[in-house]
Amino acid sequence: MTSIVSHAVTVLLVDDQRIIGEAVRRMLVNEKDIAFHYCGDPAAAQQTAAQVSPTVMLVDLVMPGIDGLSLVRGFRENPETRMIPIIVLSTTEDAKVKANAFSQGANDYIVKLPDPLELIARIRHHSAGYINLLDKNEAFRALLESQQALEVAKDQAEKATRAKSDFLACMSHDIRTPMNAIIGMTDVLLESELNAEQRTHLRVVRSAGETLLHLINSILDFSKIEAGELRLEKIAFNLREVVNDSVDITRVRAREKGLAINTEIEDEVPQSMLGDPTRLRQILINLISNAIKFTHQGEVRVKIARDKTTEPCALVFSVEDTGIGIPADKQASLFQKFMQVDSSTTRKYGGTGLGLAICRQLVELMGGRIWLESELGKGSTFRFRITAEIPKTSEPAQAQKPAANVPAAEVPPLQILLADDTPENRLLIMTYLKKTPHTLEMAVNGQLALDLYTKHAFDLVLMDMQMPVMDGYEATREIRKWELERGIAPKPIVALTAEAMAEDARRTAEAGCTEHVIKPIRKATLLDLIARYAPAPK
Ligand code: ADP
Repeated sequence: MTSIVSHAVTVLLVDDQRIIGEAVRRMLVNEKDIAFHYCGDPAAAQQTAAQVSPTVMLVDLVMPGIDGLSLVRGFRENPETRMIPIIVLSTTEDAKVKANAFSQGANDYIVKLPDPLELIARIRHHSAGYINLLDKNEAFRALLESQQALEVAKDQAEKATRAKSDFLACMSHDIRTPMNAIIGMTDVLLESELNAEQRTHLRVVRSAGETLLHLINSILDFSKIEAGELRLEKIAFNLREVVNDSVDITRVRAREKGLAINTEIEDEVPQSMLGDPTRLRQILINLISNAIKFTHQGEVRVKIARDKTTEPCALVFSVEDTGIGIPADKQASLFQKFMQVDSSTTRKYGGTGLGLAICRQLVELMGGRIWLESELGKGSTFRFRITAEIPKTSEPAQAQKPAANVPAAEVPPLQILLADDTPENRLLIMTYLKKTPHTLEMAVNGQLALDLYTKHAFDLVLMDMQMPVMDGYEATREIRKWELERGIAPKPIVALTAEAMAEDARRTAEAGCTEHVIKPIRKATLLDLIARYAPAPK
C-alpha cells in the first residue's frame, strides 16, 4: 500500500529574461521551505514542469517565439499540469489582458515585480491550495486501494469459509456413515446376552459414539452458521409441543441423576408461532442438557413468559437450574466458541464449548438475544428473548409426524425394501429387524431398488440417498413416476441419509420422500417409524 507523501512548496518560473529569474531567486532565497526552479526557454517549460513537479508556476506573458497565454493553455491541456496553479506575470496593469489570462486558465495575475512580501504570500497561498488537493487525491487513491485490497481479502476469506464448510459437510457425511454401524451394532450387542463387564465396556463404546456424533453435529452447525449458510425456516408450529419434545428428550438423563424437570408456560403465551421449530428445539435441548449436566441435586425449570409490555409479541424462554453456578468473571465469555468455565470442565463434565456459541448464533439469527444470570454454588438461569410472529388462524400448525397407527407390539408383518450401498448399514437394518415379523428385501443401488419396487409389493421403502449407479433422489422420483402412471397410491419412502442439513431434508422431500431420517438410526427409531407407517388394522 502507498503511503501519503507530504509536498513542499515548489516554484517554477518561466521567463525569457534571466534577470527576472535572478531577482525572483533572490526574493525567495531565505524561504527555506520554498524550492525555486527557473526555466528561460518557454519551449522547454512543459518538460521542466514534468521534472520538478511545481506546486505553483509563474509564467511571463510576453516571450519570444511563444506568447505566455498559449503556454498557459498548453499547461491546462496537459493532464499532468492541468491542476497546477499559474500566476501570470505581466508588465502592465491592463483589465483586458487580465480577463484574457483568466479565461485561458490562469489563477492569478501580477505586475512584475511586486514586493517580495506579496509575491511570497501569493506563492504560499496558491501552493497551499494545490498541496491540499494533492493530499486529498492521494488519500482518496490510498482509500480506493485499501478498499480494493479489502474486497480481495473478503472474497478470499469467503471462499475459504465456504471451502471449509463444504469440507466439514463432506467429513460429517463420511463420519456419520460408519458411526451408524458403530452405534447401531453396539445397541444390538447390548440387547444380547452379555456378562456385566462386557455390558459396561459396550456402554462406554456407545457413550463415546454418541459424544463423537454430538461433536460432529456441533462442528457442522457452527461452520454452516459462520459461512452464513444456515437459513432458518419460517413455518407455523405448536410452541408447547416444541418445549415438551425438548424436555422429553432430556428427561432420561435428568431421571438418572435424580433431578426433576418442570415446565411452566404462562397462559398468555400463544399456542403457535411462525419460525423454525427444529432450531428452537435445538436451543432448548442445549440449555436443558447443560442445566442437567451441571446440576447435582434439585431441579431444572423450563419457563416461557410473554413480555406484556411489547407489541409484537415477545417471548422470554428461561432454563433455570440449582447447579454449580458460574463465576461472575466467566459469564460474559461463555457464549463464545470453545469457551468453558475452566479447563477441568471437559475432564469432569465432557463437552466442547460449542453449545452456547451455537445457541447465541441461532437466537441472533432469530432476531433475539440470549443472556444468563448465575450465582456460584446456587445455580444458573439462561434466558433468551425472541419476537414471536403469530400465524394467521388460516395457517395450520406444522403437521407433526403421524402418530403410530398401531401399538409397536401389534404391528402387522410388513414388506420392507431397503436401498443402501454400504454392507454394514444393510447388515445393521437386517439385524434390527431380525426378531420382528417383517420381511426385508435389499438393493445395493437405486436402479436395483427401482427394479424390485416395480416387481413386488412393498409397504415401506428405506432409501439411502447417496448410492452408485442411480442415487436415492432419482430412484425416488422414478418410483413416484411409476406409481402415478399406474394410479397406484404412493407408498411411504423414508430417506435414510447421513446428510444432516435442512436443505438436504428439503431436497429429499422434493424428490418425493415421505420423511427424512438422519443416520445413525437407532433400533427404537426404526421400529417406531415402522409402526407409524404400518397400515391401520381394518
Ligand atoms: P459444553 O457444555 O459442550 O462445554 P457449552 O457452550 O454448552 O459447551 O457450555 C460452555 C460452558 O459453560 C460449559 O463448559 C460450562 O463451563 C458452562 N455452563 C454452561 N451451562 C451451564 C450451567 N447450566 N451451569 C454451569 N455452567 C454452565
